[in-house]
Amino acid sequence: MSIDSIKTVGVVGAGQMGGGIAHVTASVAKRDVILTDISQELADKGKALIDKFLAKGVAKGKMTAEDKDAAMARIHPYGSMEPLADADFVIEAATEHEPLKIKIFKSMDEVTREGVILASNTSSIPITRMAAATSRPDKVIGMHFMNPVPIMRLIEIISAMQTSDETLDTTIALGQSMGKTCIGAKDYPGFIANRILMPYINEAFFALHEGVGDAKGIDEVMKLGTNVPMGPLTLADFIGLDTVLAILRVLHEGLGDPKYRPSPLLVKYVEAGYLGRKVGRGVYEY
Ligand code: NAD
Repeated sequence: MSIDSIKTVGVVGAGQMGGGIAHVTASVAKRDVILTDISQELADKGKALIDKFLAKGVAKGKMTAEDKDAAMARIHPYGSMEPLADADFVIEAATEHEPLKIKIFKSMDEVTREGVILASNTSSIPITRMAAATSRPDKVIGMHFMNPVPIMRLIEIISAMQTSDETLDTTIALGQSMGKTCIGAKDYPGFIANRILMPYINEAFFALHEGVGDAKGIDEVMKLGTNVPMGPLTLADFIGLDTVLAILRVLHEGLGDPKYRPSPLLVKYVEAGYLGRKVGRGVYEY
């Protein structure tokens, strides 16, 4: 499928990432979006957050009110997957849980037209396994957006063992139409970004647990000492501690090396429901 024939993009999951992907698809790539979640309420909530984000852009003079209205009019929220029958390309951005993603890929395979590419925004689950769960493994690919999607410039593009060159080319073209730089990675646990980032964040939790520094101290040392915009614990809260833990478990299991074992303190935070910014409490309170 050529990039010109992609008029409507389906996005499955209207959370932090799905909302961001819908945002750039509607406002930068200027394509219609079918935004789905498990209920109409959650899909509507995802759309409402995009409205808030775009309104800030208008207030700052980065976008006109007309462009914002045009982008919002392109986003169509639904509480089920059936409307994906009208999509020309689908990006899955649901919760990071492998059995759930496999189920979603099977459903997307049933609902969408033959030939439609099915991409996953997974941070760590093997694309090769999701591809194998469908009848179109050559048309399954990873499209790993960075958070927050409207601001971050990169998309890591992950080819499964089965992904065709045509699927790769179309996906890169779509990512570029969203204003992003696309860089290829192989389908091994964590791909490139999380293979390197997650052990760093995990080590910050071990250091916190052992009392090497307090949370603020650890964050400030890394922020000022390595010239990054935020420290590892702030970043973990931003990503979501449940997502961080899920990715670490994939690295630990997939690579079989004990160096990837999740910090017990991180596990406790997740068990307590302190999942980060999205719930108002993680390592820090918001
Ligand atoms: P989130 O919790 O904000 O959103 C997930 C959404 O998926 C929720 O709205 C949930 O209701 C929905 N969902 C669950 N089951 C569904 C189903 N069957 N059908 C449709 N929707 C369903 O999580 P998020 O941070 O947006 O993460 C989503 C994906 O993006 C994960 O795979 C995650 O690993 C990946 N990712 C996250 C980040 C990050 O920084 N948070 C960065 C890159 C990639």
